[in-house]
Amino acid sequence: MSQFQSIDVADYYDMDTFKRIEAFAKDKATPFVVIDTSIIAKQYDDMVNSFPYANVYYAVKANPAAEILSLLKDKGSNFDIASIYELDMVMNVGVTTDRVSYGNTIKKRQDVRAFYERGVRMYASDSEADLRMIAEEAPGSRIYVRILTEGTDTADWPLSRKFGCQNEMAYELLVLAQELGLEPFGISFHVGSQQRDIGAWDSAIGKVKSIFDRLRDEHNITLKMINMGGGFPANYIDKTNQLGVYAEQITHFLKEDFGDDLPQIILEPGRSLISNAGILVSEVVLISKKSYTALERWVFTDVGKFSGLIETMDEAIKFPIYTDRQGELDKCVIAGPTCDSADIMYEHYSYGLPNDLAIGDRMYWLTAGAYTTTYSAVCFNGFPPLKDYYL
Ligand code: PLP
Repeated sequence: MSQFQSIDVADYYDMDTFKRIEAFAKDKATPFVVIDTSIIAKQYDDMVNSFPYANVYYAVKANPAAEILSLLKDKGSNFDIASIYELDMVMNVGVTTDRVSYGNTIKKRQDVRAFYERGVRMYASDSEADLRMIAEEAPGSRIYVRILTEGTDTADWPLSRKFGCQNEMAYELLVLAQELGLEPFGISFHVGSQQRDIGAWDSAIGKVKSIFDRLRDEHNITLKMINMGGGFPANYIDKTNQLGVYAEQITHFLKEDFGDDLPQIILEPGRSLISNAGILVSEVVLISKKSYTALERWVFTDVGKFSGLIETMDEAIKFPIYTDRQGELDKCVIAGPTCDSADIMYEHYSYGLPNDLAIGDRMYWLTAGAYTTTYSAVCFNGFPPLKDYYL
């Protein structure tokens, strides 16, 4: 008996969907991602139904393909934008700037000016220099300040160190925003992507509440909005709770602190909307051992850290990998095709790969719709960027 557990595609996709993707993929040269947009539509509906009181701002960075942006535009989504380039992308599919929030706390002056000239009136900030610059280039705009949160060790992809400030500073920035003629509008946080501990939202909401109260009591400033970021789950190996469980508990935390009269709530899902809709297809290029007696195989495939799988860094995101082979599952190292020794995805892949896997076989990386195409390098070692197809 193998110590490894096999990946059952049916745990991740309904089989008709998988067969459709597999058939579509059959004659295409690897590597590429196929995204079934009907799954995104469903995930979006789930999000809206689970949080009926919230406004969704899709985090464009997860996957900015025009097919996805158009779909979400038509479904009524708003958009969380990280750069002037993303702003171009959403405007190119006809999104109006009243549906856009500039969510990056690191921005150039000329970009803020361009956002303002195009009509964007909502900006994130977490520093005094940035806030003063926004006051000059985007006068009168709505400001929300991003706070630091805990829970970095329970998120697969933590985000709250580089971004956010301590509560005291957030409080002072919002007072300053008012003095500078901006509208102190709300607070944002991001508990970390693929956050497995729902309690992370509880402590973040508690922090938000204390800033709301202090600003009201000490400065007569009434904040109107909480932006709870992303962090909602996708179906990787080591599945976590379903979205409905997250929604129920987070709603409870919000009501505990704010009662029934909630401020405006914004969500910025990326991974949870898109990941499940995508399958990355690669091909085995080489299988070898490092000595004639080694037990461990190295499986080299034509996709790697630099062509879309950077989130395997420190084995943070564990993609389920499916192959057609039925052999016993065996320990292996899974690595990419470039001449860079950092281009190793998994040394401890807990599911193993079939021992009859052969050169030329296809590997299906499930749950790979988000943060893959966008992380793919333009031509590292001459390899082209990861291709993507939309069904
Ligand atoms: N909002 C902001 C500001 C982010 O930086 C990110 C991810 O980096 C997201 C939302 C999306 O988060 P997730 O993919 O966990 O849903």
